[in-house]
Amino acid sequence: MHPWQNIAKLSQTDLQALQNRKLQHFITRHVYPFSPHYQQVFKQHKIDPRSIKTVADLQRLPFTSKKDFIDPNNPRKAIDFLLQPDQEKIKKHWPLSQLLKLKALSLLKGSAALQENLGREYRPIFITFTTGTTDKPLSYLYSKYDIDNLHLSGSRMLDLFDIKNTEYIVNLFPFAPHLAFWQVVYGGLASCALVLSTGGGKSTGTQGNISAIMKMKPSVILGVPSYVYHVLRQAKEQGKRLESVKKIVLGAARVSPDFKLKLQELLFSMGANNVAVFGTYGFTEARCAWAECPSQSPLTSGYHLYPDKEIFEIIDPKTGEVKGEGEDGEIVYTSIDSRGSSVLRFRTGDFVKGGIRWEPCPHCQRTVPRLSSDITRISDVKDVHITKVKGSLVNFSNFSVCLSEFKEIEEWQVELCKKDNDPFEVDQLIVYLTCKESVNQSQLTDAVKQKLLNMTEVSPNQVVFIPIADMVKRLELETANKEKRIIDRRPNV
Ligand SMILES: [Zn+2]
Repeated sequence: MHPWQNIAKLSQTDLQALQNRKLQHFITRHVYPFSPHYQQVFKQHKIDPRSIKTVADLQRLPFTSKKDFIDPNNPRKAIDFLLQPDQEKIKKHWPLSQLLKLKALSLLKGSAALQENLGREYRPIFITFTTGTTDKPLSYLYSKYDIDNLHLSGSRMLDLFDIKNTEYIVNLFPFAPHLAFWQVVYGGLASCALVLSTGGGKSTGTQGNISAIMKMKPSVILGVPSYVYHVLRQAKEQGKRLESVKKIVLGAARVSPDFKLKLQELLFSMGANNVAVFGTYGFTEARCAWAECPSQSPLTSGYHLYPDKEIFEIIDPKTGEVKGEGEDGEIVYTSIDSRGSSVLRFRTGDFVKGGIRWEPCPHCQRTVPRLSSDITRISDVKDVHITKVKGSLVNFSNFSVCLSEFKEIEEWQVELCKKDNDPFEVDQLIVYLTCKESVNQSQLTDAVKQKLLNMTEVSPNQVVFIPIADMVKRLELETANKEKRIIDRRPNV
């Protein structure tokens, strides 16, 4: 079956009616009866689950956030989000018509077959974890039903990228129980495309990845932006040519339009032409990812959402008020067709500029809603990089935007520390740079200091130029799942 089935061309009214129907069904048949956490939430807030009939009704439910998964007195708190049916709950909550169907199946094929069916739908068989560097990783469980959804989202993404099943794909995402790697693996399997998953730098080493690419001659390379760039740059240094590459798909980190251009230029210089660079968006809690469709790089069409699988709301991060179409705000996610660990109104901590748009995509004409690609993190202070430096609140996303605008900068890292390593001393901010050889270091230092001051209101104490090999080690490009772009060495922050 075509992965977008018929949802890609439905009108907004029809898609919204579909969402309302699925939401109502999901809450009354699955979430309220089987989710210990949400049953408690409904009871505590005196909400009748049958009264949630539309996307707008969802606003009566409180938000869910990462902290709801953590209870110091209950190490298994996250399990409360898992849908856990049993015979008694099914009898109590499912309508007679559905119970009769179960009864018929049991009579026809035996009760073991009935148990097997329910087990396939609900029993957890797969886990991925969140990737927080300071928080403890949280586990999210998938049943076979969810794995089927992971197949579907993967094949929808490949379809958006217009990847044919005759094309070769090299997957450089790090091998780990994290969504990105497995989304690619399952997407490839679902689309019957040939995918070589190298496991990234930690598993195969950068040289191993370069050899794999040279042997396979893929038309598609996928991975974390910094690592894909690192591998391609190393390959270029070794004089390799990459004429076969047509598409680069990036995930697990924000991709700026400038970065896309930089990657395209690098590939052009290695013999490739007509290279499209795509961004993707996904998070552990949704257990799937979304993709941009081909458009004139670096402009993007936004992430094409799955209205038959989820509801997105954009809210004011301070007041929680739901914003209108196209408005900026925090991304809130509700599943309407999942099993395993399921969330309603989950606050992602991601801030989107340009919100969600419902008009058909100007590039592919699909009518599914699209989420703007301009997404930055706003939560988890240490992880996400809004923190106080020298007394000012600094958004480190701006560092990325600012430094990637300098064409001569190859790589950068920002380190926060205390003067003389004394915890009572003032904050120090050091910017490490690796640049093209021809650069005038003192001119660039002045320009970087000035630009950072304008954009972030802090100026670095020091700008240090280091060779690429040192930078690769500092960033842990070859060993970590995500590069260490910003290091906070200040104690107790
Ligand atoms: Zn499109």
